[in-house]
Amino acid sequence: MAASSSKLLVLPFLTFLVLLIPSIQSNLVKNPFGFIQDLHGSQKGQTVKGLTDLKLYLEKFGYLNNNIQVNNEGNNKNHTKDDEFDDSLESAIKRYQRRYGLNVTGGLGAETENMMMKPRCGQPDIINNGAGIKINLNAIWPATQNHLKYRILTGVQVPGTEDLKSVLSRAFNRWAKVSRFTFEEVPENAENFQLEIGFHDYNGLFPGDTGFDGRFGTTAHATPDGKFHYDKDEDWSSNPGPDAIDLESIAVHEIGHLLGLGHSIVPEAVMYGIFVYGTTTKRDLHPSDIEALTAIYGPIRS
Ligand SMILES: [Zn+2]
Ligand SMILES: [Zn+2]
Repeated sequence: MAASSSKLLVLPFLTFLVLLIPSIQSNLVKNPFGFIQDLHGSQKGQTVKGLTDLKLYLEKFGYLNNNIQVNNEGNNKNHTKDDEFDDSLESAIKRYQRRYGLNVTGGLGAETENMMMKPRCGQPDIINNGAGIKINLNAIWPATQNHLKYRILTGVQVPGTEDLKSVLSRAFNRWAKVSRFTFEEVPENAENFQLEIGFHDYNGLFPGDTGFDGRFGTTAHATPDGKFHYDKDEDWSSNPGPDAIDLESIAVHEIGHLLGLGHSIVPEAVMYGIFVYGTTTKRDLHPSDIEALTAIYGPIRS
């Protein structure tokens, strides 16, 4: 009797579970950097499936130089696209840990994994050409060019971005206040412009533009020729709740790249490469951001 009544209960319960699964799946968006957690505990000398992806991650953000040989742009030879935990991977992890002020172990642990899995900017933290020579990925504007015009591409409609124009205007203003630059929005069909802002998903907007990776992971990036892109698949907002990311903070950061700045090691700086959902604290420039700009262009004329 007891057994048959419990059987009777199982069926509705299973039905309930099956109905629940799609809603669970839609709430649990896969973190594009989530693979890093699956590598937990892997050690030097081991071959672990997924280490290739970690190598690509560390290469993308400037910690691992796979192109040890002569660097012909766009034609790099890759020597370490495999799943081996080798010396160069250990050094790259150490480089990452040093930069982010983590325990320098050369291996993966919860602290390092958690940092690596945070949403971030697509620009590398460390920029060099493999021979230790620093190259500049971002444009430095000549002394004659103080007035920069920007256009906003509206081809991709993204929820939460309805007031993008005023958001961008405020973001540009923050840099204008501390530099010699003035900024002006021009119509989308204007031909004379220096900067361009747009959205895209897995596909870049033009050949050579890197695609994004869905929600979280890489959230925005800038190109050396004056463009910055938001990842269309993030939850954008000009007034973000905990599950959305602030359009304005990210704009201030990416405009920094358009002015020639790289990533900062100061966690409070706007130019820090890690982004946080649900906060607007990175809208205001930090003294170190202004110092970095002054280092390139000299002090502001008063
Ligand atoms: Zn960045
Ligand atoms: Zn892009």
